[in-house]
Amino acid sequence: MALHKNLIKKWINESKGWGIFVKEPIKKGEIVMIDSGRVLTAQEYFLLSPEQQNLTYQIDLDKVIVPNDFNHISDEWFVNHSCTPNTILSQGKWISSKDLNEGEELTHDYALVWANDLEPFEINPCLCGSKDCRGKMTGDDWKISELQEKYKNQFMPYVMEKIEKAHRL
Ligand SMILES: [Zn+2]
Repeated sequence: MALHKNLIKKWINESKGWGIFVKEPIKKGEIVMIDSGRVLTAQEYFLLSPEQQNLTYQIDLDKVIVPNDFNHISDEWFVNHSCTPNTILSQGKWISSKDLNEGEELTHDYALVWANDLEPFEINPCLCGSKDCRGKMTGDDWKISELQEKYKNQFMPYVMEKIEKAHRL
């Protein structure tokens, strides 16, 4: 499984593009998404086209993950960012953090995954629409102490190490 069977990809609008939506209710605590893709080194990343670079995310200081096939991108790549996400990241799996109702959009907080080691990343303005929206999302958001407090050990391992290192300084 890459996406839970009760989820479906839908077009939202020009500014948000595609998103993943709940078509039948999902209980809190279910695995809703497992990331797929292949790992590229930083050198390989910089050989990609800008469009392809937009479809990657960092998984280590010098590594990114990209879709297995840029021409047939699997659905889990279309999950949008939210500053108030309804998933948590636990040991490489995305888990629903509440009961999810039909029609709800599946989201995660990109701050758990993204840092700026390879290139600056930002979504500005953020279009998540949640009442706790940070206004923009950037690859430096892991430095925000409220987010470190909120997400604790949910950050990707390499981001976790950056946080721990920053606290030791
Ligand atoms: Zn937001």
